[in-house]
Amino acid sequence: MREILHIQGGQCGNQIGSKFWEVICDEHGVDPTGRYKGDVSSDLPLERINVYYNEASGGRYVPRAVLMDLEPGTMDSIRSGPYGQIFRPDNFVFGQSGAGNNWAKGHYTEGAELIDAVLDVVRKEAENCDCLQGFQVCHSLGGGTGSGMGTLLISKIREEYPDRMMLTFSVFPSPKVSDTVVEPYNATLSVHQLVENADECMVLDNEALYDICFRTLKLSTPSFGDLNHLISATMSGVTCCLRFPGQLNSDLRKLAVNLIPFPRLHFFMVGFAPLTSRGSQQYISLTVPELTQQMWDAKNMMCAADPRHGRYLTASAMFRGKMSTKEVDEQIINVQNKNSSYFVEWIPNNVKSSVCDIPPTGLKMSSTFVGNSTSIQEMFRRVSEQFTAMFRRKAFLHWYTGEGMDEMEFTEAESNMNDLVAEYQQYQDATAEDDGEYEEGLEESYEG
Ligand code: GDP
Repeated sequence: MREILHIQGGQCGNQIGSKFWEVICDEHGVDPTGRYKGDVSSDLPLERINVYYNEASGGRYVPRAVLMDLEPGTMDSIRSGPYGQIFRPDNFVFGQSGAGNNWAKGHYTEGAELIDAVLDVVRKEAENCDCLQGFQVCHSLGGGTGSGMGTLLISKIREEYPDRMMLTFSVFPSPKVSDTVVEPYNATLSVHQLVENADECMVLDNEALYDICFRTLKLSTPSFGDLNHLISATMSGVTCCLRFPGQLNSDLRKLAVNLIPFPRLHFFMVGFAPLTSRGSQQYISLTVPELTQQMWDAKNMMCAADPRHGRYLTASAMFRGKMSTKEVDEQIINVQNKNSSYFVEWIPNNVKSSVCDIPPTGLKMSSTFVGNSTSIQEMFRRVSEQFTAMFRRKAFLHWYTGEGMDEMEFTEAESNMNDLVAEYQQYQDATAEDDGEYEEGLEESYEG
């Protein structure tokens, strides 16, 4: 079995992480006490259940999950929530101090004090695995704990388990949803870490999630609950290929191999169709062509960047439900043919599709999109502009230097993110003809 170890940190990470478990428990027929209550006539929900769950005595399924925070509040509410009893009590690791939306507190001071306790639990879970494939971390990048301590944990895990995969579900900050001014600092410092220490990052951008709720779902004042409903549907869709039998992207490494042509460019745009608000899903039923059209639509992307402003290096389209594989293949080929200028021509067959028989709860069919698009630079540019506006005047810097941070780390993080933007741009501009020029150039230099 190829197990995945799930870690959730900070307020946002814990909220979205526990929603994820609620959704997948439902899909795998696991009730809030960990017992299987599913359809005994089908093996599918249980066939790969060990990827995410440990089997405990008495036939209970226990999430292979570690929950961490620097304050007890969010974890208290998870524990008293509907699935609170399903987690292993020893796997709740928390402090009392809080991180005060300060990345330095999470990464260097308060978080650094708690990190060994978290690593102990991580190690224990990892040792119990038959053949651990990797880790997935849920966190926000705008706060202090998920962001600072989350990236500290990621770097410690990379040190200890260098050959295991690291997937993150990272929530990017937006002023539309939050009013803490230092979020661009925290996010930039985190991206600096994720570029180096994560293998694949699913980008969940609060700016886009807010826009989907407001514009498409017509919610006049979207709450975190509304945003998190979109996130949990997407997380379920993205992990479907890891949790159920199938061929495409069946483990974290295959997903990475298909999607990442250059190691630093591992930040994915994800999309979902059909988009639904909480409680309304039973009314929506779409055909394969409609799902295909929607999943490629900029309006369905969980990242505020327009794919038409860039090009796809690679993409995966994952459908769920009973449908014809042939129809799915035809639709995907159709999208590529009609939009060929939006796919780099120097990676042939860069779109993969798959079908999983089991639809998400409450829908007959759905589709999830994971794309590596150069247009994601738009989101990094947005954060970078907000960062630079403050950093130019060294505003709020004392909160970070007060925790022992050096200004140099800010400068490095800023340039690393700017480099990332430049790399996306470089591959966006690259065409097949460039190779010709390059070869001609070589010939000239040989002649000389
Ligand atoms: P931490 O507890 O120190 O990690 O801080 P938070 O997780 O509260 O980080 C703040 C950032 O996360 C801000 O950008 C918030 O907008 C965002 N955030 C907090 N809670 C949620 C949530 O439940 N859902 C979403 N989508 N974003 C959240």
